[in-house]
Amino acid sequence: WKNAPPTLRFLAQAIRAHGGRVFTVYQDERVTYEANWRATAQLANQLWSMGVRKGDRVAIAMRNLPEWPVAFFAAASIGAIAVPLNAWWVGEELAYGLSDSGAKVAILDGQRHDRLTPHYDALPDLEHVIVSRADASLEGPKFHRLEVLIGTPNDWAGLDDVALPDVEIAPDDAATIFYTSGTTGQAKGALGTHRNICSNILSAGYVQARGMLRRGETPGEPAPKVSLLVIPLFHVTACSAALMPGVVTGSTVIFMRRWDPLEAMAIIEREKVQFTGGVPTIAWQLLEHPERDKYDLSSLDTISYGGAPSAPELVKRIYKEFGALPGNGWGMTETMATVTQHSGEDYLNRPTSCGPPVPVAELKIVSQETGETLPTGDVGELWARGPMVVKGYWNKPEASAETFVDGWVKTGDLARLDEEGFCYIVDRAKDIIIRGGENIYSSEVEDVLYAHPAVIDAALVGIPHHQLGEQPGAVVHLAPGASASEDELRAWVGRHLAAFKVPVAVKFTDAVLPRNANGKILKTELRGLFAAEEA
Ligand code: ATP
Ligand code: MG
Repeated sequence: WKNAPPTLRFLAQAIRAHGGRVFTVYQDERVTYEANWRATAQLANQLWSMGVRKGDRVAIAMRNLPEWPVAFFAAASIGAIAVPLNAWWVGEELAYGLSDSGAKVAILDGQRHDRLTPHYDALPDLEHVIVSRADASLEGPKFHRLEVLIGTPNDWAGLDDVALPDVEIAPDDAATIFYTSGTTGQAKGALGTHRNICSNILSAGYVQARGMLRRGETPGEPAPKVSLLVIPLFHVTACSAALMPGVVTGSTVIFMRRWDPLEAMAIIEREKVQFTGGVPTIAWQLLEHPERDKYDLSSLDTISYGGAPSAPELVKRIYKEFGALPGNGWGMTETMATVTQHSGEDYLNRPTSCGPPVPVAELKIVSQETGETLPTGDVGELWARGPMVVKGYWNKPEASAETFVDGWVKTGDLARLDEEGFCYIVDRAKDIIIRGGENIYSSEVEDVLYAHPAVIDAALVGIPHHQLGEQPGAVVHLAPGASASEDELRAWVGRHLAAFKVPVAVKFTDAVLPRNANGKILKTELRGLFAAEEA
């Protein structure tokens, strides 16, 4: 292990400490740390013999499968850059990810391979494609079945224990390119290092220790947990804030084929899951599920989420109805996940905050107009600095120079800090509605709408207005069987907030609002609903 890259040393230590424990569970496939390691080392050697060297890109595009961490660790262990691609992307978008990153090898599941088939000819840099769980036959020297190279997950325990190729890897060497969610424009690749990942792992350990103290446990040796991973591994939240920290504690991470609240509850009961979450939507869907009482969910001790704004209502309900510690973390792809973390009593007392920065992070609030640091309490752009901030964007020197300044990342989020350093995200700079010079932060109005008993989902967007610039419009989804009129909801907001913040129009939708894989409402899709109200 002398030369193992820092990220892998965590895995190595986990194997030494608890190699026989189950690492990943997917349906009836249970992979121990030891078996995961053997598959990783075998695949690393296969990649090496395909000519993959330090700095080469190895793309990974698959559902949350046991093969995912194996592919990820195999790439990292030879100094290659793992490039997780969004499995929700269509063929064209996946091809963009492969060509933007200049991937030499792609490790795919059958479905992603099918989507990419029409695009391979246009990807000359892609020398090898490794496919797991493929239905179709694979033709040509470029294509390999993962099962032929390393077997299926149930075989991995029986693989030989081979040594890793000898590669020198330093903490600041590149390890990953994760793509941003593409909420405000085209997804950008963020170039992360081994140090970035390790700093997230250590922050997660710190958060876990604080949670243990709160429950009256002794945070000595971090305890292994059973966690249910319901968000996709191609986002940093799942990979570096949920999967990686689990490795350190020898935790068992259960993967789902796709998010389904009923199946999730059955798994929680059967596997005695202690930790779940990811994005606020998940917590809501568990809380409000009509069949919730049929399941024993008492094993849950933490429900933590981030990645998208969450209503303050949620915190109290998790605490009261699940008896679990609620957690909220703020972060972005450019920080490989966690920058602030909020939990327990602190969170209950400040339910609109996303917490204080983790010990290794610094925050400041900067005026977008003057570039000056603003006094405590003022709203401005949030800047973050620390060992979790990535090197920059892959292949985008202009965007990098614009976003990364002296070790700080300019987040594009509008926020304020209170006297004790707790951070409050009020909006994305791009989503803020400026009505005749008055700022309307969408989260403030959305939180009031959420608090209405009939509303279960809400978003505020700007409607163009030739004199005022923009006016607020709301899109809401009502609880099944509940009713509320447009006038009633406008009056409700008017009782809690200033008149200029009251939506001029309210649209009702039959479905929950459109979200991306990270739980973020796709506001660009909603703006079109108000075409008739533009003035
Ligand atoms: P793009 O940058 O491509 O437009 P994106 O910003 O949505 O997409 P991510 O990096 O996945 O891509 O998301 C980071 C953003 O998510 C943050 O800038 C912030 O707006 C939002 N976010 C993350 N955590 C929280 C949180 N706890 N509360 C509120 N918003 C959050
Ligand atoms: Mg962003």
